[in-house]
Amino acid sequence: MDCIFCDIIAGLIPSNPVYQDEDVIAINDINPQAPVHRLVIPKKHFADVTEIERAEDGALLATLFATASRLGRESGGGFRLVVNTGAEGGQTVDHAHIHVLSGRFMEWPPG
Ligand code: AMP
Ligand code: ZN
Repeated sequence: MDCIFCDIIAGLIPSNPVYQDEDVIAINDINPQAPVHRLVIPKKHFADVTEIERAEDGALLATLFATASRLGRESGGGFRLVVNTGAEGGQTVDHAHIHVLSGRFMEWPPG
């Protein structure tokens, strides 16, 4: 399967994880949209979060959300978690992930 995040997790593409455990990895986004922009990614491939939900893997969903929340908190200020889902939802990498954005004012509504 051709998946850039699976290649990162497998070490085929070098990355500098800010956190990882047996279930998730967190990396800096290559094209940051805020001074802090991290991605929290499950190590197992799921196309998007609805696939994790359909697999009824609530523990993984909780781990992803808790990890994103902790990374946001550790960024020191307010933060925003984003889960783009499907092409219309702005998803460009078809491997589930949560964006953690921080370090600037987050306007609402988003673009
Ligand atoms: P999304 O549009 O929600 O699917 O987000 C995918 C994100 O992955 C984008 O913000 C990209 O900048 C980011 N991205 C793509 N390739 C890489 C990479 N090799 N390393 C880090 N981030 C990446
Ligand atoms: Zn993948």
